[in-house]
Amino acid sequence: MARMYYDADAQLELLKDKTIAVIGYGSQGHAHALNLRDSGLKVVVGLYAGSRSAERARADGLTVHPVAEAAKIADWIMILLPDEVQRVVYEQEIAPNLQTGNVLSFAHGFNVHFGQIVPPDNVDVVMIAPKGPGHLVRRTYDQGEGVPCLFAVYQNASGQARDLAMAYAKGIGGTRAGILETTFREETETDLFGEQVVLCGGLSALIKAGFETLVSAGYQPELAYFECLHEVKLIVDLIVEGGLAKMRDSISNTAEYGDLTRGPRIITDDTRAEMRKILHEIQTGQFAREFVLENMAGKPGFTAMRRREAEHPIEQVGQELRSMFSWLKRT
Ligand code: NAD
Ligand code: MG
Ligand code: MG
Ligand code: MG
Ligand code: MG
Ligand code: MG
Repeated sequence: MARMYYDADAQLELLKDKTIAVIGYGSQGHAHALNLRDSGLKVVVGLYAGSRSAERARADGLTVHPVAEAAKIADWIMILLPDEVQRVVYEQEIAPNLQTGNVLSFAHGFNVHFGQIVPPDNVDVVMIAPKGPGHLVRRTYDQGEGVPCLFAVYQNASGQARDLAMAYAKGIGGTRAGILETTFREETETDLFGEQVVLCGGLSALIKAGFETLVSAGYQPELAYFECLHEVKLIVDLIVEGGLAKMRDSISNTAEYGDLTRGPRIITDDTRAEMRKILHEIQTGQFAREFVLENMAGKPGFTAMRRREAEHPIEQVGQELRSMFSWLKRT
């Protein structure tokens, strides 16, 4: 079993005299900045001039600087910008302001692993990657809990990089839930694989295909929406709480028999072969190259796909149905 580390394994004191610049105030950025501050650490936020996030950060009681200035005054720079803008912001505003002994950190290994950001030798380079969305990182911290994190050391200039990464994970509440050690390569490849094949790509393709099959066979779109999308959350909650066993305990025997006999016909040998192909594209950097070039070209394909997806009938039915769910509005 891989070792999990908890609060007692990490020393927040290592960060006591450090100023931490959180660059970006989006999903992860706001959660890191607020949790670190509430852990008693000195935090500033770095944003570009005119950023809308700046008002929110100030309203939350934080000090906001332009990125270059935040990087300059900080001992620790955590880059929480969208992956596709990190390279340019790093080169123009962060790199010129790095000093010997600084710590440069990330919540995802993409840019370092694929060589988009090449840090100088005189800084520590670490990763603290919460395994959950930013709003959960903040909400669970507020509740006295945390989101599990991965941590990794890419470059250990100070000789203390590993302890420092663990201390940061404690500062955002990660060690309350448990943190697990990895490498930049492993985190990057598994994160991309998970989001492409299972969590985001696989799941949304499965939901849409199920919905389309029912609707083209003449069933009401509203029923198709409930069966193929809405109930996903109820099933996944059970799986996360107690594994596949708890879910199967809770569903009817009819559903369980259908699961065991029909599920394997949906994920076939062809599907598995495609999964291996997708993993290979990640490992060889083919996916990274495609994503980097797409962004450099101004996202033409990305924009077209986003538009087409927004027009899918499941989104229209969903919008109407969700507007009628009073319990969804309350949360
Ligand atoms: P986001 O899109 O939510 O936030 C981006 C922030 O960067 C915003 O505050 C935006 O105003 C700012 N920004 C955008 N362009 C900028 C620029 N040119 N200069 C300065 N600021 C700019 O980003 P995110 O989803 O929180 O992702 C940040 C990092 O965390 C990424 O490396 C991502 O892979 C990683 N990560 C995200 C999640 C998640 O839950 N979203 C989970 C784990 C890891
Ligand atoms: Mg997004
Ligand atoms: Mg992920
Ligand atoms: Mg990811
Ligand atoms: Mg049912
Ligand atoms: Mg049962």
